[in-house]
Amino acid sequence: ISVDSAAGQAVKAADRAHVFHSWSAQALIDPLAVAGAEGSYFWDYEGNRFLDFSSQLVNTNIGHQHPKVVAAIQEQAGKLCTFAPAFALDVRSEAARLIAERTPGDLDKIFFTNGGAEANENAIRMARLHTGRQKVLSTYRSYHGATANAIALTGDPRRWANETGVSGVVHFWGPYAYRSNFHAENEAQECERALQHLEATIAFEGPQTVAAIILETVVGTAGILVPPAGYLAGVREICDRYGIVFILDEVMAGFGRTGAWFAADHWGVTPDLLTFAKGVNSGYVPLGGVAISGAIAETFAERPFPGGLTYSGHPLACASAVATINAMAEEGIVEHARQLGETVIGPGLRELADRHPVIGEVRGLGVFWALELVRDRTTREPLTPYNAAGAAAAPMAELAAACKQRGLWPFVNMNRLHVVPPCNSSEAEVKEGLAILDEVLSIADAHTV
Ligand code: PLP
Repeated sequence: ISVDSAAGQAVKAADRAHVFHSWSAQALIDPLAVAGAEGSYFWDYEGNRFLDFSSQLVNTNIGHQHPKVVAAIQEQAGKLCTFAPAFALDVRSEAARLIAERTPGDLDKIFFTNGGAEANENAIRMARLHTGRQKVLSTYRSYHGATANAIALTGDPRRWANETGVSGVVHFWGPYAYRSNFHAENEAQECERALQHLEATIAFEGPQTVAAIILETVVGTAGILVPPAGYLAGVREICDRYGIVFILDEVMAGFGRTGAWFAADHWGVTPDLLTFAKGVNSGYVPLGGVAISGAIAETFAERPFPGGLTYSGHPLACASAVATINAMAEEGIVEHARQLGETVIGPGLRELADRHPVIGEVRGLGVFWALELVRDRTTREPLTPYNAAGAAAAPMAELAAACKQRGLWPFVNMNRLHVVPPCNSSEAEVKEGLAILDEVLSIADAHTV
């Protein structure tokens, strides 16, 4: 890694002059100028290298600059860069086939979008038209994207500034045994009571008004909440009973993240619509989509689907998806992710919990893990309050800064540290990251009672 501070400062100055950043007060941010990336690492212009334990926004499932995917994008660029969605293209058809072969059940038709929010927008559009109903139910602990319907569905504070009051969205509580809303004492109780609560919500909303229930199969940003055994099957049964479309959002959980092609595979559940993005091509070119069941596809057999995007099924994006999926299959990356979770990350994090009182709970699977940090293990008081800012959020900001000082790029949300490295990280890389976490958690332990 070479050092070129002047170049780094120029990149930063140009950014500050003209780039308007997501989710930020523009004057209060200080973005790191990135010089390059490869595999599980990236580096700045000052000679600092970071192990990416965030996979950026949990999307670089095969790490940075995978040579097969880079070559496929270059090759496609030489052949055909762009073409409108109405035409049949070899690379688009192949991407759809590879995805449809892997999605559960009869989810065999693929509508391509540019990312996750648009995938959820279109899934909701399909559900509303298929059922002739308006309401969509989603959980309070969720993230579904930042476009109009997707942010209305979202169950985190980013929704508050975006509500128009006409969304047709109703929120309910999903299962979360560690902080049970149902006074449950174990996972089985949590599951049973969460299903009763969902059913009661539907009864009081009017089952004939509910078009869809959308869930993240494993809740991502809002906490890596792995559903208890039986929950997803229970939601499937409720949807069937009331004619409600079941949408699983696998934008973050899909394509290897949980150690399976799709998280739904762990529970053998098939939704009516499954949305994906991120890992489908590791985000090398923007791509998302909706995998559609036979019955819903049939709704639009004779009746036009009233939705579309200029870049639906963009050739460069599709070429990168084909190469990514093939590379993941050839290199056994999904099995590797499962193995890392079972033998390295899970045991490693539990060992950290033995030593660090700040860790309240360790949960996850595959390369999709959270450490929930607390001031007090007995009361489970979070290390920082819900949606804390400024001084109240300081212990988490301090922790993130300590990780970065030691060359680890963390994923932090509220009082949680997520461990979400690329699916093809080596065992040595993961252990390097865990050793750094061991050091920085000692700093956080000082905040415990
Ligand atoms: N759904 C989930 C579960 C996500 O994690 C995200 C993004 O983080 C989205 C949807 C939105 O995807 P995008 O940012 O590509 O629009």
